[in-house]
Amino acid sequence: MNKIIDGKMIAEQIKNEVKEETARLKEQGVRVTLAVVQVGSDPASGVYVKNKKKACEYVGFESLSYELKEDTSQEELLALIRELNEKKEVNGILVQLPLPAHINEDVIIKAILPAKDVDGFHPENVGYLSTGQKGFVSCTPAGVIELLKRSGISISGKECVVIGRSNIVGKPMAALLLREDATVTICHSRTLDLKAVTKRADILVAALGKPKFITKDYVKEGAFVIDVGIHRGADNKLCGDVDFEDVIDHVSAITPVPGGVGPMTIAMLMRNCLESAKK
Ligand code: NAD
Repeated sequence: MNKIIDGKMIAEQIKNEVKEETARLKEQGVRVTLAVVQVGSDPASGVYVKNKKKACEYVGFESLSYELKEDTSQEELLALIRELNEKKEVNGILVQLPLPAHINEDVIIKAILPAKDVDGFHPENVGYLSTGQKGFVSCTPAGVIELLKRSGISISGKECVVIGRSNIVGKPMAALLLREDATVTICHSRTLDLKAVTKRADILVAALGKPKFITKDYVKEGAFVIDVGIHRGADNKLCGDVDFEDVIDHVSAITPVPGGVGPMTIAMLMRNCLESAKK
């Protein structure tokens, strides 16, 4: 096993698998289409949307792009979602978050047909995850599980600690680890003695959104560390929630930033969209 887990390479493998299957579907006359909706012109969202469209092109999906103005009303956005829900050829609908403050994200997420909710954010899909049923799973945590499995790191029975309890990363991450038979603890901003808990982890997932916060004082010797955080430093370099240099000699394996969890998110989105088309 490599000490530095190569998320870029594993994401590439997954995208190539999706590409092959998409070509097979095409031969049977089935096309895969992802609709990507962006409201406003947040530069970070713009980059994510561009990368998602590029990935669609790579795997052979059609992508429909909707770039709406910042002052688009909630009603207008809902009308577009209803239209996309009804369009037979659309397999997946992705509304890039965050949305402008005048739009209620929960309302928008709930309006997406669960069968086309390839981001896995709809409460119905979240419910399926927590009750162990089949449904779409949030792409970033699903990507973490895939990284662990494809790196030969067994999860069953392990002590896993997730730092962060967001709906997009922390909570689904914990649910997925539980589904893989781990013993799971979730830490958050109110956890009293964070170090005491994180030092128990065989597998530590950092998703707290604080640059280089996790130093070796938080990590058990020989642990596997997954860094979900992404931050751009003042030097314009990307870093994660983990202080990579500080922990590297202390761990069995770790995901780097960039090139770890990040590329997996888009690869899993492609896989979710393919699954939707297969159904
Ligand atoms: P968020 O801000 O919604 O949630 C952060 C969580 O961390 C909260 O639950 C909070 O309670 C907890 N937290 C904050 N400070 C803490 C502390 N000092 N100790 C313990 N817990 C603390 O963030 P998010 O959307 O879950 O994202 C987390 C990080 O992952 C961010 O850096 C984000 O940019 C990154 N992210 C990366 C990807 C990817 O594709 N790689 C996708 C989504 C998010």
